[in-house]
Amino acid sequence: MSESDSRFSVCVFCGAKPGLDPEYAQIARAAGRAIAERGWRMVYGGGRVGLMGVAADAALAAGGEVIGVIPDGMLVREQGHRSLTRLEVVADMAIRKTRMIALSDAFLTLPGGLGTLDELFEVLTLRQVRFINKPIALLNHGGYFDRLLAMCQGFVDAGFVGPNDLDALMHDGDLDPLLNRLGALRA
Ligand code: AMP
Repeated sequence: MSESDSRFSVCVFCGAKPGLDPEYAQIARAAGRAIAERGWRMVYGGGRVGLMGVAADAALAAGGEVIGVIPDGMLVREQGHRSLTRLEVVADMAIRKTRMIALSDAFLTLPGGLGTLDELFEVLTLRQVRFINKPIALLNHGGYFDRLLAMCQGFVDAGFVGPNDLDALMHDGDLDPLLNRLGALRA
């Protein structure tokens, strides 16, 4: 379990923007709600903006616990969410990732941009070098991450990534089967 207590904690990585298609907000809402309805805690970047804010609000509305971790210097830009179960304000972006990882038992990536990919690859590379052994899931809604997955397979084919390292990334186009797989791997 994560360092906080025995409740299963899922860290959500997703866009600080809403994306152009309203469907992205629907999927973020569904993810936040589903995490809460399963009795799990959501950990995330602590902002009110974009898909991050949508997922957090949905988890809170469903009665869930939500912990946000935000750098001091991002409180304005990402609108630090003051209605969370807990908002941790940290010194910088690197500490934010370290703290989110420590608080979480598993990771779920939703559509997002460069920051979302940074967070996903942080946990994938930490798992690759065995610094963590926590499950990592990618919601490939509507094939949003198809090209990323193909690129990663290319890295395996070229011999720069071990097949097992890529197998550590669970992915599915649908939320519930993906969350079921995450839940089944609970320590
Ligand atoms: P984006 O996918 O670019 O909208 O970013 C999603 C989230 O990742 C935002 O909350 C960003 O602040 C966050 N983020 C971007 N870069 C980093 C980083 N190097 N470390 C931690 N969080 C980051």
